[in-house]
Amino acid sequence: MRDLSLYIHIPFCVRKCLYCDFLSFPVGDRNYVNRQRAGNIKPTEIQDIKNYVNLLRGEIALRAPQYKKYRVISIFFGGGTPSLLSAEEMGEIMDVIRASFVMAEDAEITVECNPGTVDREKLAYYITCGINRLSIGLQSADDGELARIGRIHDYETFLRTYRLAREAGFRNINVDLMTALPGQTAASYQRTLAQVCALSPEHISAYSLILEEGTPLYVNQGDYVFPDEDEERELYYMTERVLLEAGYHRYEISNYAREGRECRHNKVYWQRGDYLGLGLGAASMIGNVRWKNPEEPAAYHTYRLCERQSLTRQEQMEEFMFLGLRLMEGVSEAAFHDTFGVSVDEVYGEVISRLVGQRLLVRKGGRLFLTPRGIDVSNVALAAFLL
Ligand code: SF4
Repeated sequence: MRDLSLYIHIPFCVRKCLYCDFLSFPVGDRNYVNRQRAGNIKPTEIQDIKNYVNLLRGEIALRAPQYKKYRVISIFFGGGTPSLLSAEEMGEIMDVIRASFVMAEDAEITVECNPGTVDREKLAYYITCGINRLSIGLQSADDGELARIGRIHDYETFLRTYRLAREAGFRNINVDLMTALPGQTAASYQRTLAQVCALSPEHISAYSLILEEGTPLYVNQGDYVFPDEDEERELYYMTERVLLEAGYHRYEISNYAREGRECRHNKVYWQRGDYLGLGLGAASMIGNVRWKNPEEPAAYHTYRLCERQSLTRQEQMEEFMFLGLRLMEGVSEAAFHDTFGVSVDEVYGEVISRLVGQRLLVRKGGRLFLTPRGIDVSNVALAAFLL
């Protein structure tokens, strides 16, 4: 049986963060966040979520028969805010997945969760459903920074959620952090890192804020003070320094984990494994064919897929290199040869020599990987592999 990963998209959030251009719709708090605001939720919004869950279950049951020769090794509920679903809705989705796919016994099952959107009962129910990993979007431990980017929570709310998750029995938790936030300083970021390390999550992701065109933060960027390029660099280096000291290892450009706690699902993307995306706008890649579900809710109802695209051999080689090199373990020269029937030197010999000469790339033990300097300028180093 071949390995398969499932990505399940839940496109609802309490409200939109000011920097967000992901496919998600604000639906109010469904009674979980700031309970005093519960009266503001429109019944139609709740109905929308219920309808969506039903549609999603339909899609899972419809697509699964094509994957009888696959075994699901990881599931990732992303969004949006998947933890906004009720426990029962999450359970219904898990039930249809289990009934439709062959599941590996040790499958990694992650739910993205925003602080304040889960309670004790919901977390306990997750565990009962087999969900064994939580990814909590903290972004910063500084309440001013959180407010400036429009997050729904403060640090205290995150702490409550984190502690509830531990009490419920979660032994594999990721915490998402962000750098380059408006008003963020080296001192505030150091405090964020120290506070998070003290909690000792198994995994920490640290991405830098990208100002996406059209988002409120992009439109009003003149109203904010962002760290300048040097300050941003300082934050970037601080992430690695502090997390290494705290016992994490960096296994991907922006991801750190305790030994054995790397995110199995995300590694499938970087190593070009097969993944099936289910839900609004979800992307898939199976056997070098890519496709996407429609992003329009009205079109999703029909379960028609957007156009399929078979990757050319050249595109496959490019992806093999620039995704694989994001991992600190790099890429295997033998695996390149097995996959494409030519040596990596035949295709990339010149690029490799140049990058090795510039001390951005190392060749060792049959593998190629970025040097610390290559990681620092990874955009440039990885772009060199576009043929
Ligand atoms: S929680 Fe995530 S998906 Fe939802 S609005 Fe904020 S950044 Fe976007």
